[in-house]
Amino acid sequence: MTLAWIAQQRVQVRAAIPIKAGDVLHLSYTHSLSPTLFRREHLLESKFFSCDCSRCADPTELGTHMSTLKCSKCDDGTVMSTDPLDSQAAWKCSSTECAFTTSGTAVRKMLSVVQAEIDQLDLLEPGPAAVEQREAALKRYKSVFHPRHSLLLSMKLALAQLYGRVDGYSIDELPDIMLERKAEFCRALLKVFDVIAPGESRMRAMMLYELHAPLMFMARNEYSAGLMTQERLKERLQEPMQCLADAARILSREDPHSPEGITGKIAAQSVEQLKESVESL
Ligand SMILES: [Zn+2]
Ligand SMILES: [Zn+2]
Repeated sequence: MTLAWIAQQRVQVRAAIPIKAGDVLHLSYTHSLSPTLFRREHLLESKFFSCDCSRCADPTELGTHMSTLKCSKCDDGTVMSTDPLDSQAAWKCSSTECAFTTSGTAVRKMLSVVQAEIDQLDLLEPGPAAVEQREAALKRYKSVFHPRHSLLLSMKLALAQLYGRVDGYSIDELPDIMLERKAEFCRALLKVFDVIAPGESRMRAMMLYELHAPLMFMARNEYSAGLMTQERLKERLQEPMQCLADAARILSREDPHSPEGITGKIAAQSVEQLKESVESL
């Protein structure tokens, strides 16, 4: 479900996925991109309950691995809580040959340190330093966290929005390798949204909007380099066109003056322009 404030202090409630009569309605009271330890703490402090939903109870967070760590003592092991509903429970390596174990308290402390670093990064003005410092942090924590860990995803989310938008990284000057990186981050986030916030949400729409740009530029670059036919270019532009159309549809329900509402309008215009340029090919 998604909630939106609309004029005259009215609230609009909308189902993000199709619902059948009698289905239970779900609404998240917390930050869905946070790891289980943080979400459950936040819910206890702000809503006074210990969440035991299927995501919180699952050490893999429904297969997303948003809380999973990499083992520092073996090559392929991942480290997860033995009981995510108990913040004090031990965390153990998944490899049967590895005996690595640590306490929930130690994990919580480590997460706080990294979260504090991310909070500092979030204070940076959008600019080249905001990109470069986040990329450096991703590199530094690559061996600590699963690639889909919440804390890495939050940096990837910021990067997905910064690439193409800031000095030195504007969309028309991004080399293909960075366009691919932007697209990779967008796809990783969309895949996670499928599980933790399925359906037509604002964050999905904003990510689809971000994804259209690298897809469009990569196709155009390949075509300009003589690496594909005009027919193939037309085919390749279908995906970015669909991203824009979906983003425009979802965001058309937002307040037109909100950042999301404004992006929705831009997406709707862009889809028309892209359609025209495909037809004129
Ligand atoms: Zn929960
Ligand atoms: Zn291990």
